[in-house]
Amino acid sequence: MEKEGKLKFEVVTPYGLILSEDVDEVTCSGSEGEFGVLPGHVPFFTTLKIGMLSYKKGNTVKYVFVNWGYAEVGSERVMVLADSAEKSEDIDPERAKAAMKRAEERLKKAEEFDFARSTSSLERAVARVQIAEKFR
Ligand code: ATP
Repeated sequence: MEKEGKLKFEVVTPYGLILSEDVDEVTCSGSEGEFGVLPGHVPFFTTLKIGMLSYKKGNTVKYVFVNWGYAEVGSERVMVLADSAEKSEDIDPERAKAAMKRAEERLKKAEEFDFARSTSSLERAVARVQIAEKFR
């Protein structure tokens, strides 16, 4: 049963279901810019970039890291499918810092073949560090 005036917010990755909650509002970093969703939103589908999702439950705002993906928005549901995702409290900042260092080293060596991969790794690591540290 849908709770009245709520959105079912789900984040799914190949690693499993990361989040499934009844929330009041969801904000996503879409490829075309940030967008917010309230219950009753018109349905649409969009791609997401590496970055942050947030959701509001009452007065509490929570944050989730998302690695690319898609968002399917309906009037009562926001479904995010991502390559990987973590709730802010589940991010290991030391692991992200190590990943950041590795990606920076690879980029310094100008390994052209690996440039896109290293840039994405770096983007993921930077976003994870920011989300873990700022919003814990
Ligand atoms: P790493 O190089 O540290 O593996 P990555 O960006 O290559 O990082 P992903 O491919 O995005 O990692 O994710 C692989 C799995 O590891 C996913 O389940 C993801 O949620 C998890 N993961 C990656 N980095 C972290 C982190 N810093 N804290 C917690 N979980 C993480």
